[in-house]
Amino acid sequence: MNRNRFFLAIAFVLMILPSMAGKHPKNVIFLIGDGMGLAQTYAGMVKNKAPLALESFRHIGIVKTYSASHFTTDSGAGGTALATGVKTKNGMIGMNPDSVAVESILHLAEKNNLATGVVSACAVTHATPASYVAHQINRNMYEAIAADYLKVDIDVFIGGGKKYFANRTGDDRNLLSELRQKNYKVVESMPALLQVQKGKVAGLLYEDHPPAMPERGDFLPQATQKAIELLHSSRKGFFLMVEGSQIDWAGHDNDSEQIAREVIDFDKAVKAALDFAREDGNTLVIVTADHETGAMSLLDGSIMQGEFKAAYSSGNHSGIPVPVYAFGPGAAEFTGFFENTAFKGKIASLLRIK
Ligand code: MG
Ligand code: ZN
Repeated sequence: MNRNRFFLAIAFVLMILPSMAGKHPKNVIFLIGDGMGLAQTYAGMVKNKAPLALESFRHIGIVKTYSASHFTTDSGAGGTALATGVKTKNGMIGMNPDSVAVESILHLAEKNNLATGVVSACAVTHATPASYVAHQINRNMYEAIAADYLKVDIDVFIGGGKKYFANRTGDDRNLLSELRQKNYKVVESMPALLQVQKGKVAGLLYEDHPPAMPERGDFLPQATQKAIELLHSSRKGFFLMVEGSQIDWAGHDNDSEQIAREVIDFDKAVKAALDFAREDGNTLVIVTADHETGAMSLLDGSIMQGEFKAAYSSGNHSGIPVPVYAFGPGAAEFTGFFENTAFKGKIASLLRIK
C-alpha cells in the first residue's frame, strides 16, 4: 500500500515536472527596438520581401509607454520603466521621480548570481542601455553613466562610447584600465571580440556611436551572438538586454528607407536570439520597444516590389502603444495590454529571483 502510494507520488511528480519547466526559463534575452512601433516593424517586413524573424512569434501583446511626467516618453524614462518597473520623469536613468535609485532587472539578476549582459547599437552610455546599469538624474551625464558600469558586476557589455571610458573630461580616471583591473577583457574591434572565448568582456568598439546601417554591417547580430555564447555557460542562467538603437534615430529623421534598414538589422539580432532559444529550450526571448517614434503611418506601397509610402506627424516620439513579442517558457505572460513597468516583475517571477 505504502509502496503504491510512493510510486503514485513519483508518477505525479514526473507528470508535473515538464509543465513546471515549461513555465520557468533559465535565461532571458530582452530585445528593445528603440522607436519600433507597428508601422516601423511593418515597413521592415515590406522592405525585406521575405518573412522577418519577428513574424514567427505566437505570443504578442501591447505595451503602454507613457512616463511619470509626460504622455510621450523619452528613452530615459522608457528604458527605466522597462528595466526597473518604475515610471519616472523624462530624461532620468534608473531613478524614480524623486531621484532615488531603483534596481533594474539586470542588477537583480546579477545579485542572484545569473550572468548578465548588455549589447547596443549605440554608445553603451546612451539612455536605453544605461537604464539597465546606471542611476543618474540626467541621461546626458555620459561620463557618470560610464563610471556606473564599474559599480555593477555585469559580465558582458558591447557597443560604442569608448571615449566616455578612456578620454574623460570631468576627471582623469581611465576606466579601461580600471576595467582590466576588474578582470575584464577590453576589446576595441569586432575581430578581437570574436576571438574572446570566455570571461568578462567590455566591448567598446567605437569612440562614440556605431555608424548607421548599412555601414555598421553585422555588428548588432554578431555582438548579440557573441554575448549569448559568453553568457550561456553560466550555471544559474543569464539575463541579456539587446538594443536596436538607431530605428529611433531614423524615425526622428522621418527617413523611411533608413527605418526599414534598421528594423531589418535589429531583426537579425532577434533571429540570433531565437535560434539560440529554440535549440536551448530554456530561454525566454522578449522583443518590444520603449516607445514609437515619428507617429509613422503607412499609406500605400507594393508588397511585391517591397516598397511603401509613409507619412509622419512628428519628428519626435509619440504616445502610441508598442507591440511586444515573446517566445519560450513563460511567453504567455506577455500577451494582452499592459504597462511598460510590468516587465521587471514578470521576468523576475519567471526566473524565480527576488
Ligand atoms: Mg535607445
Ligand atoms: Zn528618440
